[in-house]
Amino acid sequence: MKIYRTSNQLSQSIHEYTPKDIGFVPTMGALHDGHLKLINRAKEENRLVVCSIFVNPIQFNNADDLAKYPRSEEDDIQKLEESGCNLLFLPSVEEIYPHGLDERVDYHDELFNKLEGKFRPGHFLGVVTVVKKLLEIVKPDRAYFGKKDYQQLRIIKNLVEYYDLRPEIVPVEIVREDDGLALSSRNLRLNEEQRKLAPRISKTLKEASEKLLAEQIPKKIIEEATEKLNQLPDFQVEYIEIVDSQTFEPIEKAFSGQVALICCAVYVGNVRLIDNKEVKL
Ligand code: AMP
Repeated sequence: MKIYRTSNQLSQSIHEYTPKDIGFVPTMGALHDGHLKLINRAKEENRLVVCSIFVNPIQFNNADDLAKYPRSEEDDIQKLEESGCNLLFLPSVEEIYPHGLDERVDYHDELFNKLEGKFRPGHFLGVVTVVKKLLEIVKPDRAYFGKKDYQQLRIIKNLVEYYDLRPEIVPVEIVREDDGLALSSRNLRLNEEQRKLAPRISKTLKEASEKLLAEQIPKKIIEEATEKLNQLPDFQVEYIEIVDSQTFEPIEKAFSGQVALICCAVYVGNVRLIDNKEVKL
């Protein structure tokens, strides 16, 4: 695997490959099996696989979260070597933001202010700013994003459509631990007791999905789920919402044929975990 730290070097290296058939997996590192599933999928569908590791400072609305974000460059490189990734882009902050950290793409999506966006002001604008730059540098045919960040995936699809960018955006299912906890770099920050209880989040989403299928009222399902999780030590629900998976508008009364999304953000200690479940009604 070749490693590049500047866009020029990376573009030149990609340019030398023919024929072009490029799969791209952008990440923030601290790689786990969720990221590797994206890489594997890219390997299956493309001749050249490019991964990027860049902890994007402008998508963190909380300085502490950025400071505590796990970094494990050596380990990540080894995992990527083993996964068969061809090129790794490891840019510095100055490489991506040569004019400083105030730079933002002039783009707005009404989804920026819903769900995650309500609680993380500026987050999605930071995400689209970096993703647009990375897509323009790598110019992939396909770019892979996890459904773990379901709203991000939808926002990026919209971005690519709006700017008529090259890649097909490929969604990848959530990878979970055997006990149901969605893999996340943030799980490393849970203590032993918190880690034991963290799978209750996915369990609660599953129960909520069963209630939704049994035609219970979304508002009541949300109240019960919130109460259940908040009873656990160190747990604090930030939000649980049941929305339409297309519009992200809250569902008051579900209808048959609709695809609902039950999503949540829960603090376990000071670690903010997100998860979601799609429900085909
Ligand atoms: P991150 O490094 O957290 O920015 O994630 C990079 C990509 O990996 C994003 O597209 C995420 O949605 C995806 N991803 C992270 N965790 C998982 C997971 N548990 N399952 C599937 N995809 C994931």
